[in-house]
Amino acid sequence: MRSTVPTGETMRHHWLAFTSNRRFHQAPKLVSKAEGIFYHTPQGHKLYDSLSGLWCTPLGHGNRQISEAISHQLSQLDYAPAFNVSHPLAFQLSEQIAGMAPGDLNHVLYCNSGSEAADTALKLARAYWRARGKPEKTKFIGRAKGYHGVNFGGISVGGIGPNRKVYGQTLDAYHLPHTWLTENRFSRGLPQEGDYLADALLQILEVQDASNIAAVMVEPMAGSGGVIVPSSGYLKRLRTLCDQHDILLIFDEVITGFGRMGTVFGADYFAVQPDMLTCAKALTNGIMPMGAVITSRDIYQTMMDQPGDDFMIEFPHGYTYSAHPLACAAAMASLEQLNQPSLMEQVRSLSQVFEDAIHDLKGLPLVEDIRNIGLAGAIQIQSDPAHPTKRASEISALCWDKEVYVRFGGNNLSFAPPFICSKQDIHEIFSRVADAIQQYA
Ligand code: PLP
Repeated sequence: MRSTVPTGETMRHHWLAFTSNRRFHQAPKLVSKAEGIFYHTPQGHKLYDSLSGLWCTPLGHGNRQISEAISHQLSQLDYAPAFNVSHPLAFQLSEQIAGMAPGDLNHVLYCNSGSEAADTALKLARAYWRARGKPEKTKFIGRAKGYHGVNFGGISVGGIGPNRKVYGQTLDAYHLPHTWLTENRFSRGLPQEGDYLADALLQILEVQDASNIAAVMVEPMAGSGGVIVPSSGYLKRLRTLCDQHDILLIFDEVITGFGRMGTVFGADYFAVQPDMLTCAKALTNGIMPMGAVITSRDIYQTMMDQPGDDFMIEFPHGYTYSAHPLACAAAMASLEQLNQPSLMEQVRSLSQVFEDAIHDLKGLPLVEDIRNIGLAGAIQIQSDPAHPTKRASEISALCWDKEVYVRFGGNNLSFAPPFICSKQDIHEIFSRVADAIQQYA
């Protein structure tokens, strides 16, 4: 079926996700084709993809190995029931993921998105404590500016105000302070200051008591919140405090998982092993929807060792499309490539170029901070106090005109280019972004 470019009223049938639809209708941004690190528009423009889609296509667009794996799988088995039945590829993929995940994170539960992965992990944390005979451990601790998707659990533990305010609080959740500090502005890579911010957990425990807390959930670095990187000892400190107080630690690695920081996981970068790790996005290179929760041996074994009959379901949770065969095929092909040491080496060497190129924009008007880690970075734009997100959104629109797709979130412009881009591509992206900022100011 050929697609036609929508116009006028016909556009309104599609209510765009997480988008100002009214603004979109005034200036629709459409892409109709993608190749490598570029998007093509129906009008014939070719744009750099500076965020790997939505942080999810590190291998670029049109990856032949993945599309061939999907079409082969489609010819063999298009769907398998997710409950009580499975298929061989799901086991192969789980073995592959277990081999890539740190320490004893060896057991994989599948879902279809990062949001579902977050809520799956939260449910499993509660179920685990109940199985351990501590059913009162039900509350969660997240972090300000944290993003764990859009489902009710994720928004409660997440710390982005506008994503929560109209929905109400549905889980008992408390929040650590975010790790953005003025004194760390324009840090290159890991900031100096901030290990002490983890100690805020103790203040929450003083009021809530650890006996009521199931888990702490954080991203190794806050991606959607604007690439806010913690100092090097922060997560270690959080791990120690969680251990001391018998609280599970969950890393949301939906953005950091599979190479974004130059290591397979953010957990590897900081050398801290969580009890559970969520992932999605790069898992299939964004080509098929898939998310996963990877759990420690202790969590898995505790759930398996529950008393009761063998026919009892140990964890009553799952989705019609959990471990979907086409998603498994896409993930196998994606991880075979992302697991190549030479690719991680490439990410680390490009990260240096990326760091220099993004920090070259320091000193431009309205730029109030620049942060980076691995192949991820953000430029923080001074907010217009009356309209906090306006400037970043308008600069992003100018970037589009300069043929670079740039994502804005709050007052940040975020960048996470595909791992397959060249040094020249990175310089070209930031040279166009610099032009856009200067033109706007
Ligand atoms: N968690 C993190 C850290 C994310 O960055 C995202 C999406 O950007 C999610 C969860 C939600 O993922 P999804 O949009 O696939 O539901």
